[in-house]
Amino acid sequence: MNGSLQPLLEAAGDTLTGERLRMVERAYLTAARWHRGQRRRSGEPYITHPVAVAAILAELGMDHEVLCAALLHDVLEDTDCPEQELVREFGEPVVRLVRDMSALRDPRQVPVIWASETGERALMLKLADRLHNLRTARWLPEPKRRRAARQTLETLAPVAGRLGLGQLEQELERLAIANLPGGDGMQASFGVISAGAVLLPREWRARWLEEWLGELHTLPGRWPRIRFAVQLVSGMPRLAMTLRRPDGRHRPGAGGGRRAGLRCLRWVLASDVRTWSLLMPLVAWLVLDTAGERLGDAVTILITVPPVLAAGVRALRAWLRDRDGRG
Ligand code: ZN
Repeated sequence: MNGSLQPLLEAAGDTLTGERLRMVERAYLTAARWHRGQRRRSGEPYITHPVAVAAILAELGMDHEVLCAALLHDVLEDTDCPEQELVREFGEPVVRLVRDMSALRDPRQVPVIWASETGERALMLKLADRLHNLRTARWLPEPKRRRAARQTLETLAPVAGRLGLGQLEQELERLAIANLPGGDGMQASFGVISAGAVLLPREWRARWLEEWLGELHTLPGRWPRIRFAVQLVSGMPRLAMTLRRPDGRHRPGAGGGRRAGLRCLRWVLASDVRTWSLLMPLVAWLVLDTAGERLGDAVTILITVPPVLAAGVRALRAWLRDRDGRG
């Protein structure tokens, strides 16, 4: 029976024994029974997906409850299995993880779930699920692939970074970029930009890349995109320096964080890229600069701040001119 549970057992190694191992095996049998007859787009039996997700989590050293939730994560949504049955068999904590993970389909739920008791474990589940889906994304239809790739760059890769899972973050970023549409200079330009973006502080990279990706989409055709990429990369060292500059504690007068923000704002306004799309991450950065480690708040703002409009850009330009005039 353990034929297709093998990848998980290998990943878990000796850490999974006794009652815990038996619980994981039961979760596997339950999931396999409910998913029987279902297939992935690749043609493989569906159960290979939850097993692969659980194996990723086992490699990250997650506990048996998370592994059970991983095995069962699509049972409630994709089969007729009653929730009560899972609660009875595996207990409320496991089912709660499954529920919270499903809620994460809406990125606005990230800060809510993060703040909750199951928080990080549900997020880990989501990350592992996305990782496996991106690894096998070549089977997905184009719009779904693009949506998953963008959402990964926008929300999930940064979450992995904040959880201290640098390697996972990098693989998510790499796979997301590889799954972007490649036609008409898109992939080439984005490749150039993401190579240049390694200069940026890691915690901001994914967010800016996502914005620039949106910008590339609005440009008409191959050459404007490549020109945009080259211009952007030539300005990258300056942007990186601005973002990395210490917050001025050792300079008289403090307020250095805000000064760096202003410098950054000037860089954005002076460049001839479409500024409003760049302002969004900048605003988020300024907010984070003041919000410190309150990641939940920051994520909420990242998601809810509407794109700043051209009028705002004009007003800011005027304001900066005034400041310079006075100073
Ligand atoms: Zn899944």
